[in-house]
Amino acid sequence: MTPDERQSALETIAADVRGCTACRLHETRTLAVPGEGSAETEVVFVGEGPGLNEDRQGRPFVGAAGSFLTELLGTVGWGRSDVFITNVVKCRPPENRDPEPDEVAACAGHLRRQLAVIDPALVVTLGRHSLGSFLPGARIGQVHGTARPAATDLLPPESTVFAMYHPAAALHQGSLRQTLITDMGEVPRALLAARERAAAFSEGSTAAEPEAVAGPEAVARPGIAADVPAAMPAADAPSARAAASTSAPAPGADGEPAADQLTLFA
Ligand code: SF4
Repeated sequence: MTPDERQSALETIAADVRGCTACRLHETRTLAVPGEGSAETEVVFVGEGPGLNEDRQGRPFVGAAGSFLTELLGTVGWGRSDVFITNVVKCRPPENRDPEPDEVAACAGHLRRQLAVIDPALVVTLGRHSLGSFLPGARIGQVHGTARPAATDLLPPESTVFAMYHPAAALHQGSLRQTLITDMGEVPRALLAARERAAAFSEGSTAAEPEAVAGPEAVARPGIAADVPAAMPAADAPSARAAASTSAPAPGADGEPAADQLTLFA
């Protein structure tokens, strides 16, 4: 798929989202929020659902949590236009409640199509509901800051998933702010590992086994600039698809409060 074809395909999906009535969330939305960013990126960030500001503007992560996400990207030298940002559900759940399972299921087709077009090496989940769509059964308090092979029909098996708390969680639970910054510092390294894993898959190598993916057992979790450059070289930027393709074709238990308690979608 050429860049123009990829961009056109994403615009077609966005139009489908804006006209979608597949679940009850369309009844209360102001604007659907398909997502935005680079069609050429290797990294897709997936949140849970639009909040008040997103619903009004039709853009993802434009409130306070969005500002923190932009800040987090900046800590590794990336900008919003270097990645693609979207959500599990594209329409705002009323009162910022958690999306219902049937709503997530109804919207999965849109997300699956977006991921098929972008074909990212790495998906970064933001929050419990996004994590649950990509790594069912995983607990965010245990897996945040680590990468795992995708365990979902939303992605091909050679894709890698990196788990993070939702940025809004840090706005309401200050101790998570540094956790999110530290975890974000691991994302460039996870991208490098994801590229290697995808390449191994394409070559049919056994190196593509799950244990080859960066995780708490495989990679220590240093601070932002410990041994990974804060700003990745240009060839390692998440939008460097061409460069990569040349070398490789409930509060408490999980530490993240519930959406309605924390205005997770704000
Ligand atoms: Fe359609 Fe998704 Fe919006 Fe539901 S949340 S109406 S499935 S776009």
